[in-house]
Amino acid sequence: MIHPPTSGYLWVSIESHRCVACRSVVTWVGSRSLASLPGVDQNALLSRVFELADEARSDVDHPFGALLEVDGDIVVEAHNRVNTNRDLTEHAETRLVRVLQEKNLLGKLPFGTVYTSCEPCPMCVGAMFWAGTRLVVYGLSHDRLSEFTTMPGAAPGGFAISAAEIGGRAAPPMAFSGPYREDEAAQARLGFWVNS
Ligand SMILES: [Zn+2]
Repeated sequence: MIHPPTSGYLWVSIESHRCVACRSVVTWVGSRSLASLPGVDQNALLSRVFELADEARSDVDHPFGALLEVDGDIVVEAHNRVNTNRDLTEHAETRLVRVLQEKNLLGKLPFGTVYTSCEPCPMCVGAMFWAGTRLVVYGLSHDRLSEFTTMPGAAPGGFAISAAEIGGRAAPPMAFSGPYREDEAAQARLGFWVNS
């Protein structure tokens, strides 16, 4: 049974693959609370991607982490490797997609949730979409991230469009849920950029 999308966060919750699979009832608790998914500790998964962001920073890469969860289990973890691999496209989410493909696990993406420490950029939204991702939960918002990466007095760079806006115009739609625990999510960024 596929529930019809409605709007906003309610749509995010009821469009989840878990409803499609009718594995359990999904309850959405407020606009900034994580959905209650039996057998899935979403707060623990968010904590894990924050740890992955710390690990990236320890490797002198940019502080971002991501993972794929299916039925409560972590399938693959990844973090930014832009500096390690000398590849500007090695964001945490694109890295996640590449590792999944290397392991022949891309088929799991439509049935899971990607957790990421920060709202994905348009490049990563596109990579995840074409790989089959339909649901993403993130910590830090792009707007909050811009406060760290934008020099004082300068105009914010990057794309002036949210991940949810891009995903909502895709077919099939790609749902985003966040931001969550932004102060905590911001910790890995403190001091990394000039303005942080
Ligand atoms: Zn990205």
